[in-house]
Amino acid sequence: MNLENKISKIGRNMKSSIIREILKFASDEEAISFGGGVPDPETFPRKELAEIAKEIIEKEYHYTLQYSTTEGDPLLKHQILKLLERMYGITGLDEDNIVFTVGSQQALDLIGKIFLDDESYCVLDDPAYLGAINAFKQYLAHFIVVPLEDDGMNIDVLEKKLSELDRRGKIKRVKFIYVVSNFHNPAGVTTSLEKRKALVEIAERYDLFIIEDDPYGALRYEGETIDPIFKIGGPERVVMLNTFSKVLAPGLRIGMVVGDKEFIKRIVQAKQSADLCSPAITHRLAARYLERYDLFEHLKPTIEIYRRKRKVMLKALEENFSDIPGAKWVKSEGGLFVWLSLPEGFDTWEMFEYAKKKKIFYVPGRVFKVYDEPSPSMRLSFCLPPDEKIVEGVKRLREVVLEYGRTKKIF
Ligand code: PMP
Repeated sequence: MNLENKISKIGRNMKSSIIREILKFASDEEAISFGGGVPDPETFPRKELAEIAKEIIEKEYHYTLQYSTTEGDPLLKHQILKLLERMYGITGLDEDNIVFTVGSQQALDLIGKIFLDDESYCVLDDPAYLGAINAFKQYLAHFIVVPLEDDGMNIDVLEKKLSELDRRGKIKRVKFIYVVSNFHNPAGVTTSLEKRKALVEIAERYDLFIIEDDPYGALRYEGETIDPIFKIGGPERVVMLNTFSKVLAPGLRIGMVVGDKEFIKRIVQAKQSADLCSPAITHRLAARYLERYDLFEHLKPTIEIYRRKRKVMLKALEENFSDIPGAKWVKSEGGLFVWLSLPEGFDTWEMFEYAKKKKIFYVPGRVFKVYDEPSPSMRLSFCLPPDEKIVEGVKRLREVVLEYGRTKKIF
């Protein structure tokens, strides 16, 4: 059978994550990987979760081993409402403002399915989160690509591009602006309060909605929490995506959409045909965990580990890259990534071959381009390697950069 001939238009647009492909090389013992944005397993509260898992299977099996509602566990929703209030002072919501998804990646897919087609536009930043690019691309959408600056999207470029589409009578086809507001993946930057307000104002003016994706907000190592766009614009204008992947354990696969009730109903409908319902067992596990333990207390040592590793990486970059003309890096205040940019002429995708030889791995910036283009930047994740490997890895990276730079006659 010729499978290729049978694939749908949407099926043809599906891509496997290049990050997963690239990181296959990193399993070598001598390799040092700054690649994956996966949390340190030592931060998972495994003893507590194991105890609760036994209990909820033995005593709550009617619920945990059964089909559940599409929306997810009401006890977990109750915990989320409390967390949103504690973390961001968000109030006035109830259960119908929340639907759980299988990781927030499923939320991105469902949003793409509901809102995007070959006539639609959506706004993404440059660089953008790969999972969002892939999810939205599947549905054949067009992209308005806006450069990301140290304090968020370039608002002037965004306005210019939207007003151009308005002039051409196409503004109704623009559906939403997608923003990772805190400690952006991959760029590490946080959208300033000013820009958050400007985004809401633009979304109101052009009648768009904003998707605020916030998996890293609780992982702040420096500075003050900034009001979420969701709080500034309200649920009629802004939808918030969140996940337990970076603060509890990604294996739970619990993501969520928080938004206007009509919006949530649409997601629930789409989710019914995607997976009927989320796993009751992981929902109840998380709900009971949150009832008994304080998530923010649990996060304290986690934050300490990441804060230390981030410091080690920033110091190593200072020591190894300060003398490389044009090299710069984002000192993110939280999250899991440092975004390192090299001078003009560098193509970190091509340079990856050099890095492979020295067994140091990163994610080339090209991966985060909405349209396939070379990039002089790379994403470095500090969350997994031990401190001494971070130092050694940055040293190896310097050697790679010098070798590539000399070969290409950039230096
Ligand atoms: N959005 C962003 C910005 C992310 O970085 C991630 C995880 N890499 C996700 C969504 C997806 O997270 P999950 O599906 O594990 O909830």
